[in-house]
Amino acid sequence: MSGREHAVSHLLSAAARRPTRTVSVGHVRIGGDAPVVVQSMTNTDTVDVVRTAIQCAELARAGSELVRITVNTSEAAAAVAPIRAHLDRMGVDVPLIGDFHYNGHRLLAEHPACALALAKYRINPGNVGHGRKRDEQFVQMIEIACQYDKPVRIGVNWGSLDQDLLARIMDENAHRAEPRDAIEVMREAMVASALESAARAEEIGLPGDRIVLSCKVSGVQDLIAIYRELSRACDYPLHLGLTEAGMGSKGIVASTAAMAVLLQEGIGDTIRVSLTPQPGGERTQEVIVAQEMLQTMGLRAFTPMVVACPGCGRTTSTFFQELAQSIQEHVRSRMPQWRLDHDGVENMTLAVMGCVVNGPGESKHANIGISLPGTGEVPAAPVFEDGAKTVTLRGDRIAEDFTAIVDAYVARTYQRKPTGR
Ligand code: SF4
Repeated sequence: MSGREHAVSHLLSAAARRPTRTVSVGHVRIGGDAPVVVQSMTNTDTVDVVRTAIQCAELARAGSELVRITVNTSEAAAAVAPIRAHLDRMGVDVPLIGDFHYNGHRLLAEHPACALALAKYRINPGNVGHGRKRDEQFVQMIEIACQYDKPVRIGVNWGSLDQDLLARIMDENAHRAEPRDAIEVMREAMVASALESAARAEEIGLPGDRIVLSCKVSGVQDLIAIYRELSRACDYPLHLGLTEAGMGSKGIVASTAAMAVLLQEGIGDTIRVSLTPQPGGERTQEVIVAQEMLQTMGLRAFTPMVVACPGCGRTTSTFFQELAQSIQEHVRSRMPQWRLDHDGVENMTLAVMGCVVNGPGESKHANIGISLPGTGEVPAAPVFEDGAKTVTLRGDRIAEDFTAIVDAYVARTYQRKPTGR
């Protein structure tokens, strides 16, 4: 076992998952002993069947194991079954989740094909209705889930927290000997909304193994506190995500900071990274970030990862940055085929290092590493495979030669095991 593999195995044992029920969403299992599932959400108009199906397929091919779509109007509900059919024709079997607010009870009742085509319904208890209507409409949605044998996610969001429930908890708090502060009351109300809605769903007849919970907020410390409490209070699988995480590095850092703490404590059975795409940016970025979060924590492996040094005054050219980028892009682009042909290739580690200081050492820890020459060093790049130096590359074809070495290593090392058929 290499040093890195040892570190990963140590992390895996450190991050034992909290025991939960298992919920099946189509062919994907959430909770129990299933790995943490990556999911995402489209941002197309659901009414546009072709564009939505194409984006679902892109997200699925990037690695999203579940895809959620907005179902907000009668036209959108009518588009769901055709989207499912379109995906099936493309050979994409990713389960679809319907995101409902305000009118989900009516849309599901009036569009049975939609209710049937979806693999899970997301219900926001803060947006189901008010007063007596709230309970009636919630009952209606849960009864439809029971009728079609579909799981639901009871997805509380602090931006649409049930105001009646919040008022009740604030009132209870005011009568406490030592009232809690406003933040603690909000956290308590989020958890209560999820748990009380789940209990009501079970009372209506939805089995406990058809329920996933989430309580999304946009503050890192709030998310950590709420999910710790939620995980202590129930054994439903938890959907983890920082809502409205934001754009670019801020969104990535905030999501990772919050989710990594919880995942390390074994909390979280499915994750979504809610990134705002850059104008013209790829929606699939949120899937890649989710995968990289899980992989860098040693919780799952999706694609070979490239370790690269940051560079410093010892390397004044950008060559090693370009090589690190091109190798990461190469393995990502080869992965769909490698996954079919090579068992375990997603666990491969690569290192691209800028000079002799840490280059050979880091390269030896990786499955394949290259230590490029820093400024003033002999223009030679030793390559290490499984800790041993195998070749030294020189000249202006180092990138091409190193890529070929990676391909040959994959073909040689990760051979498909016979299936016995
Ligand atoms: S490996 Fe060399 S180039 Fe890279 S950061 Fe360390 S000293 Fe700088």
